Amino acid sequence: MSNEHQNIHEFDFNLICEYFSLIERQGPGSPEMTLKALSFIDNLNDESVIADLGCGTGGQTMTLAQHTTAKVTGLDLFPGFIEQFNKNAANINLQHRVKGVIGSMDQLPFERESLDLIWSEGAIYNIGFERGVTEWREYLKKGGYIAVTDASWFTDERPAEINDFWNEAYPEIDTIPVKVAQIQKAGYIPVAAFCLPENCWTTNFYAPQVAAQELFLKKHPDNITALELIANERREAELYNRYNQYYGYVFYIGKKL
Ligand code: SAH
Repeated sequence: MSNEHQNIHEFDFNLICEYFSLIERQGPGSPEMTLKALSFIDNLNDESVIADLGCGTGGQTMTLAQHTTAKVTGLDLFPGFIEQFNKNAANINLQHRVKGVIGSMDQLPFERESLDLIWSEGAIYNIGFERGVTEWREYLKKGGYIAVTDASWFTDERPAEINDFWNEAYPEIDTIPVKVAQIQKAGYIPVAAFCLPENCWTTNFYAPQVAAQELFLKKHPDNITALELIANERREAELYNRYNQYYGYVFYIGKKL
């Protein structure tokens, strides 16, 4: 990759980061669903260590931290998100046990078998579901848990338009039974799988973007990357409104054998 390309790439990353920093969550979800998933995890205490991979600015991490006494590390590739994450941890006075670090989910900076819980909402797609659950398992203690959300089909068949859109965006999207089987095959007991309700996408993810988009477009009126980013987000939201009975995010929870 030439320097020129690298700079363009970095510039795009920074723009995307800037856009998503305007909203509290960078993916669909809700505190209620984070807590519902947490209710399946039964091994946590003051000594526990949790990692939230692809944590973004830490919307769900702060919920996790406030409802456990564990040490929590958020990991994300974007320095801008981690900066905001650490501010958010300080704002709720949990900076002594909640820390954001810059890093990649395909090269985790943890010891093998050191974590009690691996969390990841709306981010495992970056590495792929099967690869993520398989590789991350190495870092869990025996009896530790993994809890991740991933885009999933709710039905065996669906209209071509939405099928094509998702297969291009994320070819690993699949039905719930397929993903549960992948969790089992990777060496976990599939403890739970549940669908996130519609408001996790509409009220909590797409609605806050409307105001953010106006702000962002005012700031970058002639920037092609910015215009494309907004057009993509709007198209995704519009498709979700039309086809949300066919797909959504599912929380998958597994316990390492
Ligand atoms: N968990 C957050 C953010 C989800 S968006 C939420 O639900 O709000 C996906 C996140 O994954 C982004 O913050 C992005 O920066 C991060 N990400 C993308 N590739 C990554 C990688 N290789 N390693 C770590 N984080 C990554």
